Amino acid sequence: MTTLVGLDLAGRRVVVVGAGVVGTRRARRLLEDGAWVVLVDPSPSDDARRMASDDDVELVERAVEAADVEGAWLVVAATGHPAVNAEVAAWSVARRTWCVNASDGRGGTARVAASSTHDDLTVGVVSTGDPDPRRVATVRDALADHVRSGAVDLRRQRTRRGRVVLVGGGPGDPGLVPVAGLEALAAADVVVTDRLGATALLDRLPPDVEVVDVGKTPTHHPVPQDEINRVLVDRALRGLTVVRLKGGDPYVFGRGGEEVHACRAAGVEVSVVPGITSAFGVPALAGIPLTQRGVATSVHVTSGHAGADAATLASLAAGATVVLLMGVAALPGICAAAMAEGVDADLPVAVVERGSTVEERVTRATLGTAAEVASREGVRAPAIVVMGRVAAPGFLDDPVCATTAPDDDGAGR
Ligand code: SAH
Repeated sequence: MTTLVGLDLAGRRVVVVGAGVVGTRRARRLLEDGAWVVLVDPSPSDDARRMASDDDVELVERAVEAADVEGAWLVVAATGHPAVNAEVAAWSVARRTWCVNASDGRGGTARVAASSTHDDLTVGVVSTGDPDPRRVATVRDALADHVRSGAVDLRRQRTRRGRVVLVGGGPGDPGLVPVAGLEALAAADVVVTDRLGATALLDRLPPDVEVVDVGKTPTHHPVPQDEINRVLVDRALRGLTVVRLKGGDPYVFGRGGEEVHACRAAGVEVSVVPGITSAFGVPALAGIPLTQRGVATSVHVTSGHAGADAATLASLAAGATVVLLMGVAALPGICAAAMAEGVDADLPVAVVERGSTVEERVTRATLGTAAEVASREGVRAPAIVVMGRVAAPGFLDDPVCATTAPDDDGAGR
């Protein structure tokens, strides 16, 4: 039988005997948990010496003695010698100190759980049988995957401090939501959502999770940002866990910064789960590499609201790839201004509507034709516009297109 407990080792003396691979690895984990680690070994590995000089580890360079375990809260016997480990375990038992025996699980009084941490939850697995670390880790990983999948209701059941998590939901396909985002959603009492992004995930929420839709209404009037901020802060101050599910990445034309400011100003804890921005993810799904050695070595991401500003025109002139969000209306003006600056009218332009969804559509044109083609095809938001040689039709089908230049993308190959 064994009792799984969560030890708080912060600042507490833990003696690790044996500074080989196993002992050093254990010591490192204990350090992460904040323990005051003492490593005892007559001939420590280089790794152990490095740890002693870099981190707060006390290195005792001699054979272990009974006195070493004195005053320890926990002892780990991890020498390569079972007899020594057994002796260390016996000294520990005599002092009523828990001891992990690395060579013989049953020969100690404690076992370290293989664990995974999910926010404030730590899930641990120990075996009471013969040591079989790989098997224990496999079970740990299965449990961790399950917790992270979003299938487990992680909502807190007792009153607590509320908080806000901004989750980047990616361009729309629920498969592109980060695992940390799924975990945050599983812990949410309230989800504040937009029209864009992985809205299919909302169907999976338990029915008593409040969903506040601040996306554009049928009358096309978005909920004002102040009102969104007010909802986030209000729910969090009531002690609720609020997920702000956003399209793409929260900080790329997502007003995530404003929401963070509002939370901080109200003293509400706020964190961010980055997402795949549509600026990068949507072109990738449409087969457009934003950089390619010898073709485009930098990317300028901008919004249609900025119009044909100097930075965008300079980027086009310099051969950078330009990615335009919210750019359907501004497209004709930007194309005309770029051509007036001398950018080649044949420069490829691709427009990807509703990327990553079943309704995805890719329209190809050039600077010279984009305005007319977009209007003829009835291109509408949400769409990503990519301007640059990488946006040429069939670019990825033609290896010659783009492989001949020197290593000028900094990628070192
Ligand atoms: N924070 C978001 C951008 C929000 S601004 C992100 O990082 O992706 C809204 C604009 O994003 C839209 O007008 C459109 O240009 C772009 N967009 C978002 N999702 C898209 C999608 N699935 N397909 C094409 N464009 C998309």
